[in-house]
Amino acid sequence: MSRSSNRPLLRFAPSPNGLLHLGHAFSALYTWSAAAALGGTALLRIEDIDGERCKPEFTAAILEDLHWLGLDWPEPVLQQSARLDAYADAGERLRDLDLLYPCFCSRAQIAAKATGTDPDGAPLYPGTCRHLSPAEQIERLERGDPVQFRLDTERATAMAGALTFTLVGPLVTDRPQIRYARPERWGDVVLQRKGTPTSYHLSVVVDDAAQGITHVTRGRDMEAATDIHVLLQFLLGLASPIYHFHRLILDEDGKKLSKSRGSRTLRDLRADGWSPDDIRRELGFAPLRLN
Ligand code: GLU
Repeated sequence: MSRSSNRPLLRFAPSPNGLLHLGHAFSALYTWSAAAALGGTALLRIEDIDGERCKPEFTAAILEDLHWLGLDWPEPVLQQSARLDAYADAGERLRDLDLLYPCFCSRAQIAAKATGTDPDGAPLYPGTCRHLSPAEQIERLERGDPVQFRLDTERATAMAGALTFTLVGPLVTDRPQIRYARPERWGDVVLQRKGTPTSYHLSVVVDDAAQGITHVTRGRDMEAATDIHVLLQFLLGLASPIYHFHRLILDEDGKKLSKSRGSRTLRDLRADGWSPDDIRRELGFAPLRLN
């Protein structure tokens, strides 16, 4: 799976926990047009580590909707649920560096003690379990207490020093800008859960490197998460791609489209008679030309 040439490689990485809406279509079309502009290839990756919310029928629907939009990708498609060993290995490397610790706090306990919020607006972890003694950790793990493993972000950032990432956009051919990453504003993020040796942050970083992704294209709402991604890239000795953050598709209330807000899916629009070209035009992309 490692990179065999310097050819630009991009990816669209949906989570199959629902059907695609116009926001996903924009992100996918942006990725494929950026790949074309760079003379590279866009891959599809299925981010299905959440076994409760992700369903094979949504994966099938995503593939079908993207094909309907006129998009194609090289096979095989990477599915994160088949890569748990690779994420567990990455977790072990962080454990060897003494950067992962078990946390037994409930959401309510965290909310009660949090001193602020992270860039996503979630309560910042107050560090309660960071200093549990090894004996206490072992006792609670053996007792089977619900556990998740957190990154000791302060120690990790001390090891890493100042970190930057390269940002380009909105045109992929624009001049690159350098940004400082600020992982400390996320606190001690969860990197592994009981029964799932990974989290969004860990698997995305491991897979972008394993697939040789050179350019990450994603919505602006995910720009802040890059702080953690570049820190993990440093700690795991992985190359850092170039980042592009595209605009978000908003609804009439100015809110980002989302499954939870009941945004209309591509299938709803298709049932109402929209064609793939209607979707492209609506989102500001040229209709597909078939040669
Ligand atoms: N799987 C994530 C999502 O569906 C996107 C991952 C990424 O672009 O890094 O929101």
